[in-house]
Amino acid sequence: MKNNMKTIGLIGGMSWESTQLYYRIINKTIRKKLGKHHSAKILIYSFDFEEILEYQNDWIQITEKITDKAQKLEKAGADFILICANTMHKTFDDVQKAITIPIIHIADVTARKILKKGFKTVGLLGTKLTMEEDFYKKRLKEKFDIDVLIPSEDERNLVHKIIYKELVAGKIKKYSKHMYYSIMYELIEQGAEGIILGCTEIPLLIKQKDIRIPVFNTTRIHAEAAVNFALKNEKRLK
Ligand code: GLU
Repeated sequence: MKNNMKTIGLIGGMSWESTQLYYRIINKTIRKKLGKHHSAKILIYSFDFEEILEYQNDWIQITEKITDKAQKLEKAGADFILICANTMHKTFDDVQKAITIPIIHIADVTARKILKKGFKTVGLLGTKLTMEEDFYKKRLKEKFDIDVLIPSEDERNLVHKIIYKELVAGKIKKYSKHMYYSIMYELIEQGAEGIILGCTEIPLLIKQKDIRIPVFNTTRIHAEAAVNFALKNEKRLK
């Protein structure tokens, strides 16, 4: 089994607070599935997040940077890639075109979990870009027929601010947790059957065991999908 295991390429550092979650979840899942001293074969490129934030609105530059790292990971021997941030999936189509190995899309694997639960409408928390732009919500609607509800503008600003001022810096605050909970409950009131934690740092703040609303932890779902694919015989994604 060990020799057949694929090598996972992670594009991380966006932020490293969530990349470490990927690393742990992937290795723990491999250990659970294979036993003994098995661990995952992983190549990580971890960005200096400050350099990414400097280009925050220049998507040509950000796409070039991520594409360059994806090509390097392919050359280094990765069999497939994960971009370890929901927001950065804005670059997905361009990056995928530039390499021959597959990239597992974070929204696709999350959508499959949502459909498995039989849900049709979900709330979405993430950065402003993820909540407001088409690259995420439209994909869920068009590819999976899932309707996505987002918080009000003021709430979106707050959710976004907490991500960049606190979570990417590893700061976990009680007040922010309460704010997130109340925003999630509002989305439930509006008809959401569950909530997508659509930013890979949100699971640092919000845990399923603390709430009765079903949440979709995109970090865990993405990392576990990587393990499943790494252990499969197929070379291409289905
Ligand atoms: N990790 C975050 C996400 O999943 C946000 C940080 C960023 O990449 O801008 O969207």
